[in-house]
Amino acid sequence: MGCEVCATRPSTVETAIGESWFVSIPAGDAPLTGWITLATREHRETLDELSADEAASLGPLLRSLTSAIRAETGAERTYAANWAEGTRHVHFHIVPRLAGLEPSRLGAAVFALASDDILHPPIAEQERLLASLVAAVARDRNRGLL
Ligand SMILES: [Zn+2]
Repeated sequence: MGCEVCATRPSTVETAIGESWFVSIPAGDAPLTGWITLATREHRETLDELSADEAASLGPLLRSLTSAIRAETGAERTYAANWAEGTRHVHFHIVPRLAGLEPSRLGAAVFALASDDILHPPIAEQERLLASLVAAVARDRNRGLL
């Protein structure tokens, strides 16, 4: 069986950031603005398959992206999770942990928002924020932080 991530690339809502990773809006429509995925550009099924360059760039990218998400959304913190259960391709869901998040949706339960009957933010808003995150990563790269 092929990989859904590799088979559907490139989409209009993903952007390469650096040589090893790309960011996108999960399923093209996230329940929260600033909820993104960070995935390897090459097909990797497990974290221990990462190349040395992919592994070395992961931490700085997570720092840069989560900093930008907090700045853009006002989130208290961010969640970062890689399960790769539904799609066997290394990808982190990076989720803004907003102050008003329902107690029943804290931690891993935040994923239930994807199936909750709630209004998702407009796609244009999600795409604008994704572009802002990519710009923030580029700034950090130019400052030598990546
Ligand atoms: Zn893949």
